[in-house]
Amino acid sequence: MDTDVLIVGGGTIGLAIGFELVRRGTPTTIFEKDRAGRGTSYQAAGMLAPDAEIEFEELELYTFNRESLRRWPDFAKRVEAASGQSVDYRDEGTLIVADDRDAAEALERLYTFQQEQGLNVEWLTGEEAREIEPFVAPRLSAAVFAPADHQVDNRRLVDALRTAFEAEGGTLHEHTPVDAVVPDAEAPAVRTADGERVAGKRIVVAAGVWSRELDGLTPDAQPPVRPVKGQMIQMRRTRPFDLQHVVRGPEAYLAPKSDGRVVMGATSEELGFDTTVTAGGLFDLLEGGWEVVPGIRDLPVDETWAGLRPASRDHAPLLGESAAPGVAMATGHYRHGILLTPITAEEMARLICTGETSEWIEPFSPQRFSLADSPAASA
Ligand SMILES: Cc1cc2nc3c(=O)[nH]c(=O)nc-3n(C[C@H](O)[C@H](O)[C@H](O)COP(=O)(O)OP(=O)(O)OC[C@H]3O[C@@H](n4cnc5c(N)ncnc54)[C@H](O)[C@@H]3O)c2cc1C
Repeated sequence: MDTDVLIVGGGTIGLAIGFELVRRGTPTTIFEKDRAGRGTSYQAAGMLAPDAEIEFEELELYTFNRESLRRWPDFAKRVEAASGQSVDYRDEGTLIVADDRDAAEALERLYTFQQEQGLNVEWLTGEEAREIEPFVAPRLSAAVFAPADHQVDNRRLVDALRTAFEAEGGTLHEHTPVDAVVPDAEAPAVRTADGERVAGKRIVVAAGVWSRELDGLTPDAQPPVRPVKGQMIQMRRTRPFDLQHVVRGPEAYLAPKSDGRVVMGATSEELGFDTTVTAGGLFDLLEGGWEVVPGIRDLPVDETWAGLRPASRDHAPLLGESAAPGVAMATGHYRHGILLTPITAEEMARLICTGETSEWIEPFSPQRFSLADSPAASA
């Protein structure tokens, strides 16, 4: 097989890295254990929301998220041009809403912090929020409008990425699980479940929440990624209900897509690889969503599911060379993998094509964990 780069995993991250590599003329093969784009990336909400999701302790990640959002419109155009498919990039903005006094106080703390960081956000009364989005609850106490927080349809995205990757000349092997990677500085390889050994010049592990399951990596090179379960409910928009903005309440968010889907999520549960949809999970989401957008009461529910977010120990992604020769990582994107798709793909392609680690991905080196775990570091 004539290939330079072997990517393990065909989710948004593996497909997008592959797409950026083949565009640059680097022969690339993706191995996907199931169907490409049907892992966590299919189960997400597609929000591109660095401003709403800014965390007090995660400013470095915020800067990275924000830069990826800046790159999203161009990236979307490239993927759409190569695939001939829409990714439904929507820029109406996001409303973060509070439905009682406690929530309003928490929202005010967030707003103060957002302002200190110079974010473009606006404090609104409940009435002003309803002028922007008539479907939020009449009794909301306050809201913050984040016009720069956008969204895509992640399901369309993965399908478009898959088409774009193959249209640019990439090779995709679906239903081909990789059991092990074989590190080597010159000719690293992967071993598939049916025993085939395929060598290339570089391996990229982009296997999301399953990245840690691969054999062949020494403990210092294994990515410390764990699953964090999120249950979701999908409804169908039926008139007169016509929500246009992403709405984030204290207990649930709603993301309306152009094809009529209204995606509502998400729980956050540490239960290993369990993906059971539970009555309690659905109840919490329905109650939380209904409090802030009461019109969902009449909508038909057409799907429920639970996805697994790939979380690293510090909740930031692992991007760049691992401790294993010839093996790079692009995993651990946790809550932000759709948002971080453009910057991950572009910077990983640059690393692979030029050998240079950019200042953007340097702070997210996978080796930050192996170094922290070394006896010298803990002494
Ligand atoms: C409920 C929920 C809501 C979310 N909402 C958002 C959101 O609004 N915005 C946002 O930015 N992010 C969101 N996320 C996070 C986002 O979905 C993830 O960060 C992102 O999808 C990770 O992409 P990935 O390509 O790494 O993983 P995946 O999409 O899981 O892709 C990994 C692929 O690797 C394949 N694979 C695994 N092991 C092997 C193997 N051994 N051999 C071959 N193939 C293998 C899998 O089958 C899979 O297709 C959400 C996540 C969840 C669960």
